[in-house]
Formats: sequence, structure tokens, C-alpha cells
Amino acid sequence: MQFVPWQYIADWKCDACGLCCKAYSVVLNFPEWLRIVKNYGVEATTSDLNKLYLKKKSDGSCVFLYKLSNMHLCGLQHMKPDACKLWPFKVLANPKFGYAREALYHLGENKVYIYADSNCKGLKYGRPTWEFANQTLKEFIEIALGIRKEQYKTTAPIGNIHSSTPYEFLRTRNFYTL
Ligand code: SF4
Ligand code: SF4
Repeated sequence: MQFVPWQYIADWKCDACGLCCKAYSVVLNFPEWLRIVKNYGVEATTSDLNKLYLKKKSDGSCVFLYKLSNMHLCGLQHMKPDACKLWPFKVLANPKFGYAREALYHLGENKVYIYADSNCKGLKYGRPTWEFANQTLKEFIEIALGIRKEQYKTTAPIGNIHSSTPYEFLRTRNFYTL
């Protein structure tokens, strides 16, 4: 994987391809793990000596990943872990992956360094659009800093689902796009 500083990215929109929910293991913090265990049982999680994770199915995908038509849906949207909310971006206190000037972002008094995992298919490269720089990234930073929970710009809009999929079907089952 390669990390790209945000100033080389024109825009990002999740198209719910599901790649990230198959290719990566989701690390949980303790409160997230506790909430999931209370609601779904300990079998929805796993652990090693150091970390807690969401369980994977035998095909390597997250146990909460569902497929509907050509879309992938998250069955854990109402308590989605921060690691999922933040992917494919990394919001860091230091320029860990280089290109410090291109990765630097100021949000009020906060100075952070933002990179994107180039494996995400939702990235478009080029000069950042106003919406990406001022709305989308702002939301990612606020989630990373723990001052926001809700997602608007940082998740795939439900309207992207095929028009024949009844919204009510998804809403009543707590299914939303990634
Ligand atoms: S975040 Fe990227 S890799 Fe993950 S589902 Fe969306 S487009 Fe696909
Ligand atoms: S976004 Fe949802 S389906 Fe995807 S890895 Fe996270 S919890 Fe699982």
C-alpha cells in the first residue's frame, strides 16, 4: 500500500465496492468492542495478544458486510468503528509518510497531516476541489479528533443504491452503504 498526501487528491467518494471490508482487519478500541459484544455477542469479534478486531467470514470479509445487487452494505452503520469511518484516510499528528508540506492541514488551531491509502478505488487524483478540502476532509478530521460521530461526506450516500432497492427495506434493517 502507498499513502498519498491529501494535496494530490482532487476528490474522494466511496462507491461501496467493499474492497476495504474484505482486504483489512478492523481494529476496535475497548468501548467499540464492548458495544458490539453487548449487541451481537463476543463471536462477532476476535483478538490477538495486543488488539481487538471485528471477526471475518471464511472468505476474509467482515462479518457485517452484506451484498445487495452490485452494492456492498455495512450492517454495523449505527455503531460503525472509527477505523471504518476514517478509511481510506489517515489523520496523523506527524508526517509519518513524508511529503510534510503536501500532507499538512490546518483546522482551527489543530495542525494535522493527512494521507490516503492508494488502494481505495474512490480516490480521484489532481488539485483538491473546494468540497473535498473544506467539507470532506474536515469531517474526517473531526471524526479522528473525536468531536464528531455522524457521517455525511465520509460515507457512500444511500442514494447511490440502485433505484429499485426500496429505501425502507434498508432503513428497517439498519443497512446503509459503507
Ligand atoms: S472506501 Fe474505497 S475501497 Fe472502501 S468501499 Fe469505499 S470505494 Fe471501496
Ligand atoms: S464498514 Fe461495516 S462492513 Fe465494512 S469493515 Fe467496517 S463494520 Fe465491517
